Amino acid sequence: MAASGTHHLVEAAPPGTMVPTSVMDAVIAEELTTLRRAFAEGAEYALTRAGRRDATIHRLDCPALQPHLDRRARWTQLHRDRLAADRSYRMPLPELLTRERARHASAARGCRVCWPNISGRDARPLKRLTARGLRARHAGRVLASESGESLGTILRIAVLRGTDLFGVQHDEVEVVTSGRTLRLAPTDPVHLWDLPSDAEAMERRTRLIARLGGPAPAA
Ligand SMILES: [Zn+2]
Repeated sequence: MAASGTHHLVEAAPPGTMVPTSVMDAVIAEELTTLRRAFAEGAEYALTRAGRRDATIHRLDCPALQPHLDRRARWTQLHRDRLAADRSYRMPLPELLTRERARHASAARGCRVCWPNISGRDARPLKRLTARGLRARHAGRVLASESGESLGTILRIAVLRGTDLFGVQHDEVEVVTSGRTLRLAPTDPVHLWDLPSDAEAMERRTRLIARLGGPAPAA
Protein backbone atom coordinates (compact mmCIF):
# COMPACT_ATOMS: atom_id res chain seq x y z
CA MET A 1 0.00 0.00 0.00
CA ALA A 2 1.14 3.53 -0.78
CA ALA A 3 4.07 2.09 -2.68
CA SER A 4 3.38 4.08 -5.82
CA GLY A 5 4.47 7.66 -5.64
CA THR A 6 6.85 7.23 -2.73
CA HIS A 7 10.55 7.08 -3.34
CA HIS A 8 13.06 5.72 -0.93
CA LEU A 9 16.28 7.61 -0.52
CA VAL A 10 19.55 6.06 0.52
CA GLU A 11 20.08 6.16 4.26
CA ALA A 12 22.89 8.47 5.21
CA ALA A 13 22.51 8.87 8.94
CA PRO A 14 24.08 6.58 11.50
CA PRO A 15 21.39 4.27 12.83
CA GLY A 16 19.99 5.20 16.21
CA THR A 17 20.74 8.90 15.99
CA MET A 18 18.49 9.95 13.14
CA VAL A 19 15.44 8.51 11.56
CA PRO A 20 16.35 7.29 8.06
CA THR A 21 14.79 9.35 5.29
CA SER A 22 13.13 6.25 3.89
CA VAL A 23 11.35 5.58 7.19
CA MET A 24 10.26 9.21 7.53
CA ASP A 25 9.02 9.22 3.92
CA ALA A 26 7.06 6.03 4.48
CA VAL A 27 5.39 7.36 7.64
CA ILE A 28 4.41 10.61 5.91
CA ALA A 29 3.16 8.70 2.85
CA GLU A 30 1.04 6.55 5.15
CA GLU A 31 -0.43 9.66 6.81
CA LEU A 32 -1.18 11.28 3.46
CA THR A 33 -2.86 8.09 2.27
CA THR A 34 -5.15 8.17 5.32
CA LEU A 35 -5.99 11.84 4.74
CA ARG A 36 -6.48 11.39 0.98
CA ARG A 37 -8.76 8.42 1.44
CA ALA A 38 -11.04 10.40 3.81
CA PHE A 39 -10.96 13.38 1.44
CA ALA A 40 -11.91 11.14 -1.50
CA GLU A 41 -14.77 9.77 0.59
CA GLY A 42 -16.25 13.23 0.91
CA ALA A 43 -14.81 14.57 4.16
CA GLU A 44 -15.59 18.25 4.65
CA TYR A 45 -14.46 18.73 8.23
CA ALA A 46 -11.48 17.87 10.38
CA LEU A 47 -11.28 17.02 14.05
CA THR A 48 -8.10 18.05 15.83
CA ARG A 49 -7.05 17.10 19.38
CA ALA A 50 -9.61 14.29 19.36
CA GLY A 51 -10.49 12.97 22.80
CA ARG A 52 -9.10 16.03 24.55
CA ARG A 53 -11.00 18.83 26.21
CA ASP A 54 -9.96 21.21 23.44
CA ALA A 55 -11.07 18.88 20.64
CA THR A 56 -12.02 21.18 17.75
CA ILE A 57 -13.95 20.79 14.50
CA HIS A 58 -12.70 22.76 11.48
CA ARG A 59 -13.68 23.26 7.90
CA LEU A 60 -11.04 21.69 5.69
CA ASP A 61 -9.95 25.05 4.31
CA CYS A 62 -9.50 26.55 7.78
CA PRO A 63 -6.19 28.43 8.11
CA ALA A 64 -5.79 27.03 11.63
CA LEU A 65 -5.96 23.48 10.24
CA GLN A 66 -3.33 23.91 7.54
CA PRO A 67 -0.28 23.35 9.81
CA HIS A 68 -1.84 20.02 10.88
CA LEU A 69 -2.09 18.95 7.23
CA ASP A 70 1.47 19.93 6.33
CA ARG A 71 2.85 16.65 7.63
CA ARG A 72 6.46 17.14 6.55
CA ALA A 73 6.69 20.39 8.54
CA ARG A 74 4.66 18.83 11.35
CA TRP A 75 7.35 16.22 11.89
CA THR A 76 9.82 18.53 13.59
CA GLN A 77 13.24 17.30 14.65
CA LEU A 78 11.92 16.56 18.13
CA HIS A 79 9.33 14.16 16.74
CA ARG A 80 11.79 12.68 14.25
CA ASP A 81 14.08 11.91 17.19
CA ARG A 82 11.26 10.13 18.95
CA LEU A 83 10.54 8.13 15.82
CA ALA A 84 14.22 7.25 15.59
CA ALA A 85 14.07 5.87 19.13
CA ASP A 86 10.72 4.16 18.61
CA ARG A 87 9.65 3.23 15.09
CA SER A 88 6.05 2.76 16.25
CA TYR A 89 5.79 6.38 17.41
CA ARG A 90 3.21 8.41 15.48
CA MET A 91 2.06 12.01 15.71
CA PRO A 92 -1.61 12.89 16.09
CA LEU A 93 -3.27 13.12 12.70
CA PRO A 94 -6.40 15.22 12.27
CA GLU A 95 -9.42 13.03 11.65
CA LEU A 96 -11.20 13.99 8.44
CA LEU A 97 -14.97 13.69 8.76
CA THR A 98 -17.98 13.84 6.52
CA ARG A 99 -20.71 16.27 7.59
CA GLU A 100 -22.73 13.36 8.95
CA ARG A 101 -19.87 12.10 11.13
CA ALA A 102 -18.96 15.61 12.24
CA ARG A 103 -22.51 16.03 13.55
CA HIS A 104 -21.91 13.16 15.93
CA ALA A 105 -18.60 14.48 17.21
CA SER A 106 -20.60 16.49 19.70
CA ALA A 107 -17.89 16.74 22.32
CA ALA A 108 -15.79 18.89 19.99
CA ARG A 109 -16.26 22.63 19.83
CA GLY A 110 -16.47 24.54 16.58
CA CYS A 111 -13.34 26.44 15.59
CA ARG A 112 -13.64 30.21 15.99
CA VAL A 113 -11.58 30.92 12.90
CA CYS A 114 -13.57 28.94 10.33
CA TRP A 115 -16.99 28.66 12.04
CA PRO A 116 -17.98 25.16 10.90
CA ASN A 117 -21.46 25.64 12.42
CA ILE A 118 -22.21 21.93 12.41
CA SER A 119 -25.32 22.35 14.54
CA GLY A 120 -26.61 25.16 12.33
CA ARG A 121 -27.23 27.21 15.48
CA ASP A 122 -23.78 28.56 16.31
CA ALA A 123 -23.51 32.35 16.41
CA ARG A 124 -21.53 33.64 13.47
CA PRO A 125 -18.35 35.40 14.57
CA LEU A 126 -18.70 39.12 13.88
CA LYS A 127 -16.14 41.87 13.90
CA ARG A 128 -17.58 45.15 15.15
CA LEU A 129 -16.25 48.54 14.19
CA THR A 130 -17.53 51.98 13.30
CA ALA A 131 -18.14 53.16 9.75
CA ARG A 132 -15.11 55.44 9.92
CA GLY A 133 -12.95 52.39 10.67
CA LEU A 134 -13.74 50.82 7.28
CA ARG A 135 -10.76 50.70 4.95
CA ALA A 136 -10.12 49.66 1.36
CA ARG A 137 -8.73 46.36 2.67
CA HIS A 138 -12.23 45.46 3.92
CA ALA A 139 -13.37 45.07 0.31
CA GLY A 140 -14.24 41.41 -0.23
CA ARG A 141 -15.50 40.99 3.34
CA VAL A 142 -19.18 40.41 4.06
CA LEU A 143 -21.03 43.32 5.66
CA ALA A 144 -23.63 42.08 8.13
CA SER A 145 -26.52 43.27 10.22
CA GLU A 146 -26.11 43.29 13.99
CA SER A 147 -27.66 39.83 14.12
CA GLY A 148 -25.22 38.50 11.54
CA GLU A 149 -27.30 38.40 8.36
CA SER A 150 -25.39 39.22 5.20
CA LEU A 151 -25.84 42.66 3.64
CA GLY A 152 -23.62 41.64 0.74
CA THR A 153 -19.90 41.55 0.01
CA ILE A 154 -18.20 44.95 0.28
CA LEU A 155 -17.18 46.21 -3.14
CA ARG A 156 -15.97 49.70 -2.25
CA ILE A 157 -15.94 52.25 0.51
CA ALA A 158 -15.85 56.03 0.05
CA VAL A 159 -15.92 58.94 2.47
CA LEU A 160 -18.21 61.67 1.16
CA ARG A 161 -17.36 65.14 2.45
CA GLY A 162 -20.35 67.43 2.70
CA THR A 163 -20.95 70.87 4.20
CA ASP A 164 -24.41 72.02 5.21
CA LEU A 165 -25.94 75.51 4.81
CA PHE A 166 -24.26 76.64 8.01
CA GLY A 167 -20.83 75.53 6.89
CA VAL A 168 -20.74 72.54 9.23
CA GLN A 169 -18.99 69.57 7.77
CA HIS A 170 -20.92 66.30 7.71
CA ASP A 171 -18.99 63.31 6.47
CA GLU A 172 -20.77 60.24 5.29
CA VAL A 173 -19.30 56.84 4.66
CA GLU A 174 -20.68 55.22 1.54
CA VAL A 175 -20.45 51.45 1.52
CA VAL A 176 -21.29 49.69 -1.73
CA THR A 177 -21.90 45.98 -1.35
CA SER A 178 -22.95 43.35 -3.84
CA GLY A 179 -26.49 43.79 -2.51
CA ARG A 180 -26.97 47.47 -1.72
CA THR A 181 -25.47 50.91 -1.10
CA LEU A 182 -25.44 52.27 2.44
CA ARG A 183 -24.77 55.83 3.57
CA LEU A 184 -23.57 55.83 7.15
CA ALA A 185 -22.48 58.40 9.70
CA PRO A 186 -18.81 57.89 10.63
CA THR A 187 -19.79 56.84 14.15
CA ASP A 188 -22.41 54.30 13.05
CA PRO A 189 -21.58 50.74 14.12
CA VAL A 190 -20.90 48.25 11.34
CA HIS A 191 -20.46 44.50 11.50
CA LEU A 192 -18.35 42.25 9.31
CA TRP A 193 -18.31 38.50 9.18
CA ASP A 194 -15.13 37.67 11.02
CA LEU A 195 -14.25 34.88 8.62
CA PRO A 196 -11.62 34.43 5.93
CA SER A 197 -12.71 36.08 2.68
CA ASP A 198 -14.02 33.98 -0.20
CA ALA A 199 -10.81 34.66 -2.12
CA GLU A 200 -8.67 33.42 0.76
CA ALA A 201 -10.86 30.37 1.26
CA MET A 202 -10.70 29.58 -2.44
CA GLU A 203 -6.92 29.86 -2.47
CA ARG A 204 -6.67 27.46 0.49
CA ARG A 205 -9.19 25.14 -1.15
CA THR A 206 -6.93 24.97 -4.22
CA ARG A 207 -3.93 24.14 -2.06
CA LEU A 208 -5.98 21.57 -0.17
CA ILE A 209 -6.93 19.80 -3.39
CA ALA A 210 -3.29 19.85 -4.48
CA ARG A 211 -2.34 18.29 -1.15
CA LEU A 212 -5.15 15.78 -0.66
CA GLY A 213 -6.74 15.39 -4.06
CA GLY A 214 -4.10 12.92 -5.19
CA PRO A 215 -4.97 9.31 -5.85
CA ALA A 216 -6.34 7.52 -2.82
CA PRO A 217 -5.87 3.77 -2.96
CA ALA A 218 -9.10 1.82 -3.13
CA ALA A 219 -10.26 0.71 0.30
ZN1 LIG B 1 -10.94 26.16 11.97
